Amino acid sequence: MTKSTALPISVATLPNRIEAIRNVIRSEYQEAHHYPWLVAYSGGKDSTLLLQLVWDVIADLPPEARQRRVLVVGNDTLVESPLVIEHLRDSLNEISSAAQQQGLPIETKITVPCIDQTFWVSVIGRGYIPPTRNFRWCTDRMKILPTTRLLKETLYNAKGIVLLIGTRRAESQNRRRAMDRREVTSSHLNPHNTVDNCWMFAPLADLEDNDVWMTLMQHSAPWGRTHRRLITLYRNAGGGECPLVLTKEQAPSCGSSSPRFGCWTCTVVRKDRSLRGLIDSGYSDTARMEALFDFREWLIDLREDNKNRLPVRRDGNVKRRNDGSRVYGPFRLEVRREILKRLQMLERQTGEQLILPGEIDCIEDVWWRDEIREDARLSLRRSILGQNPKPTLETA
Ligand code: SF4
Repeated sequence: MTKSTALPISVATLPNRIEAIRNVIRSEYQEAHHYPWLVAYSGGKDSTLLLQLVWDVIADLPPEARQRRVLVVGNDTLVESPLVIEHLRDSLNEISSAAQQQGLPIETKITVPCIDQTFWVSVIGRGYIPPTRNFRWCTDRMKILPTTRLLKETLYNAKGIVLLIGTRRAESQNRRRAMDRREVTSSHLNPHNTVDNCWMFAPLADLEDNDVWMTLMQHSAPWGRTHRRLITLYRNAGGGECPLVLTKEQAPSCGSSSPRFGCWTCTVVRKDRSLRGLIDSGYSDTARMEALFDFREWLIDLREDNKNRLPVRRDGNVKRRNDGSRVYGPFRLEVRREILKRLQMLERQTGEQLILPGEIDCIEDVWWRDEIREDARLSLRRSILGQNPKPTLETA
């Protein structure tokens, strides 16, 4: 289902281009198939503008023409920067109540990772090192899988689904290349690359950054407030964002730009200019932000000291680089225990819940299985090598 409609976008003024985008959205909304729409919403500028334009279109239609169900979906990685998640939750609440008051078929939902796939269960439980550019296990577990699960659930009751995303070519070179490769235009629906019967729709594809800001500054949110809070958040946090990531192809932009706001634990970038920016601007509770900032720095230090890591991978295999050097494995058990202890101290210090009780249960379960596995390895080695086997996984 790839279709094309003419979009007079090249020479028009900004208001005309925005109106052209509304027309494309309207025409797609009125398609006869009535597949439900999912709007990917991160609370950032692009998805805010996208939702605003969708809202305008639906609100302008007579009630009998509002045939399509629209689900606005935010994703909480459970380690979001506190200000960002506060903004996401608040705005989704406002969206939900304004939609009800205005009689619009718009609902909201927040997805979260499965409890055994969260950041802390991965790091503290399994000992995964905090993510790096080359080992970015987080986007898959914390962003792509929860959204994919929701898409599949929604597809149980529908023959197809349309996923609206705020991605734009101008976001980055990587994004431009990815969109060009898939021939994404603001008026085409492209098949999702892993979920059957799901179609991606990116109406903002050709807008520039300034277009987005100008439009947001000139038009308040139809769910009832100006975008001042969003603008301030961006200004103080330094700009970029780890968006709602839907496919592996999109993942490179998550956390890849140095100024961004995403997870407060994000170690993909060495310097977290967003948390630092929030602290320096005095935007929020500085002591709380400083404490989170320091914890994140400590996680990076732990990761970069090989003494904290096992000499083998979790499956017991040794991995080497092309030059023969060893790739160290997950954190040792005692390091994982220390991270949990300090995280719980941080919770007391900041008064924030940073880890859920369910995650702690899951972590203890993983540790217990790791210990049993290690005991089994030890006894096997004893029976093969005699009483004093060479140092093992946990002691090497
Ligand atoms: S913000 Fe960082 S830790 Fe969070 S999902 Fe994106 S890349 Fe991963």
